[in-house]
Amino acid sequence: MTENAVSQEAQLRNKIVHFGRLLYERRLAHGSAGNLSALLDDGSILVTPTDTCLGFLEPGRISKVSTTGELIAGDRPSREACFHLAVYAERPVARAIVHLHSTYAVAVSCLCHDNADDVLPPLTAYHVMRVGKLPLLKYFRPGDRALARAVGEAARSHHAMLLANHGPIVAGKTLEEAIYAYEELEETAKLFFMIGNRKTVQLSHYEIAELNTAFPS
Ligand SMILES: [Zn+2]
Repeated sequence: MTENAVSQEAQLRNKIVHFGRLLYERRLAHGSAGNLSALLDDGSILVTPTDTCLGFLEPGRISKVSTTGELIAGDRPSREACFHLAVYAERPVARAIVHLHSTYAVAVSCLCHDNADDVLPPLTAYHVMRVGKLPLLKYFRPGDRALARAVGEAARSHHAMLLANHGPIVAGKTLEEAIYAYEELEETAKLFFMIGNRKTVQLSHYEIAELNTAFPS
C-alpha cells in the first residue's frame, strides 16, 4: 500500500469513529443498530463491525472488506455490509454510506404509503436539496441477498432510500455529506409527524425544479 493509501484509510477510520460517536450522542443510533461505511481508492470498503455500538467504535477494529465481501482486516463486518457493497457497485459517485434505525424515519417506514416512489413530502428546501426523492423499498429479512439486489437497483437513480419496517440508507460523496443528508431526512420525518393531518404548504414542482437546477447533486 502507498503512503497516501495508508493515510487515506487511517483518516477514514478516525472519521467513522468520530461520526459514530456523534450519531450515538444525538440519539440517531442506539444499541448495536446501524452501520457506516466509506469507500477506499482500491475499491475495498471500511464498514462498522457486527454487533457493535456506533458510540464506542475503535479505529483499528473497523472492518475492511473487499468488493466481493471478504474480510481483509479488522473485526467481522456488519451483516448489512452486503447492501453497502451493492450501493457502491451501482452508484459510482457514492463514497460513503449511512444506515441507521433512527426513530422518526423508521416510523415513516412502517406506514402504508399511497406513493412508494417518494414517501416524505417536500416541506423544506434543505430536504429537497439533501435528500430529494425517497423511495420505499419492500420489507426483506436482515441479511437476505434479495435486499442487496433491491438496494443496488434503487441506488442507480437515488442516493437516499427507505427500507420498509427497517430504516433509511443514505449515500454521499463524503461521509459528512451522507450524514448531513441523513440528519435532514430524520428531521423531515419528525416534522411530518409533528404536522400530522394539518394542511401544509409544500414546495411546488416549479420550486423543486428551481432548487435542482441551482443545486445539482
Ligand atoms: Zn438495519
